[in-house]
Amino acid sequence: MLSFEQALNLVKEKLAAANLRPGMEVVPLGAACGRVLAEDVVADRDYPPFHRSIRDGFAVRAEDVGAPPVELRSRGEIRAGGHFTGALGPGECVSIMTGAPLPAGADAVVMVEYTESQDDKVNVHRGVRAGENVVQQGSEARVGAGVLPRGRRLGAGELGLLATVGKSRVPVFVRPVVAILPTGDEVVPVEQRPEWFQIRNSNAIALSAQVAAAGGIPHCLEIAPDRPQALRRMIQEGLNADLLLLTGGVSVGKYDFVAQALADLGAEFYFQGVALRPGKPLVFGRVAGKFFFGLPGNPVSTFLTFALFARPALAVLGGADFEAPFFLRARLGKPFQQRSGLTAFLPARLERSSGDPVVSLVDWQGSGDLVGVATANCFIVVHPDERNLAAGDWVDVMAKD
Ligand code: AMP
Ligand code: MG
Repeated sequence: MLSFEQALNLVKEKLAAANLRPGMEVVPLGAACGRVLAEDVVADRDYPPFHRSIRDGFAVRAEDVGAPPVELRSRGEIRAGGHFTGALGPGECVSIMTGAPLPAGADAVVMVEYTESQDDKVNVHRGVRAGENVVQQGSEARVGAGVLPRGRRLGAGELGLLATVGKSRVPVFVRPVVAILPTGDEVVPVEQRPEWFQIRNSNAIALSAQVAAAGGIPHCLEIAPDRPQALRRMIQEGLNADLLLLTGGVSVGKYDFVAQALADLGAEFYFQGVALRPGKPLVFGRVAGKFFFGLPGNPVSTFLTFALFARPALAVLGGADFEAPFFLRARLGKPFQQRSGLTAFLPARLERSSGDPVVSLVDWQGSGDLVGVATANCFIVVHPDERNLAAGDWVDVMAKD
């Protein structure tokens, strides 16, 4: 069976080899959050556009204040939004505000805290180096230099940068449509009152939210019964989307028909099963030109296998890089043992403390237990070679979001 890393690499390789070219569209900047940039963006002018003061104080010639205290003569004031015409000569200064352009002739700003002024006489108590308290024109980006590459997912910071460079309309890749096909004879719609032996369809809504957060457009199909023919029909419907996610029916039970239905439709299977807990029966392949994941039906398995495998794949379908899950490190609060040979993702709580971050497992009953997972804010990642974990050990942690 493939290890977690091998399986993830295989997904990455298959998506790269498919060489998909998502379409593009132009959206207003205010609607671009979470979208993926479809063109490189360059600076439309130097940034900063002028030598910018980052302090309130006095613009000076650094050489004039080399041996403080010194008395300079103020030639006026420059506020943010204003500018100074003319140039500073020896022994002169100008009162300047944060965000204002440095006047010609000046090369530094003395903070107002280190000065005393009366009328146009300014006493400077402290020297400054040339360039101090000034951000040089073009030091962040020169006009024409790239500031954001095509394929970058746009968050708040990127939107701010696009606004800075005047991109009020943004070319982005079209969002991939993701069909979500829940399966299982026991699964009923959320609105329906379940019989005591039935289970509400929680996977579809959770996956929809994950898909939307990952930049896709979720399209939920009806719940498929555990019957090969009906499954085939609904899978075909799902293949109108750019990516198909099935949940349930991928294990070795007598009524697990998902793989068979896919095989009947001519699917190529890249893997069936990963050394992963929860989520071991995960299936990945391609049919009729579309990639699919058969996600195990247990809600925590579904949630995790989406986050680990389908989300990065979806990123590529949407024109972004393969956004592999990443882990941070924390110290283990309480010891535990883990069966070795697979990669486990165990719901846990990361607590803020004064020293190193500390993480501890929460109580949970396994891959069906959304109640337990709701008390967690992260997952501890236990690697195949880790077996006995002691309090204080550094462990990998993946955020739960
Ligand atoms: P399966 O992968 O089909 O063997 O299902 C594993 C477990 O997940 C069973 O207990 C199912 O009842 C449950 N399950 C399957 N699909 C869903 C779903 N859409 N929503 C909630 N639970 C599900
Ligand atoms: Mg089932």
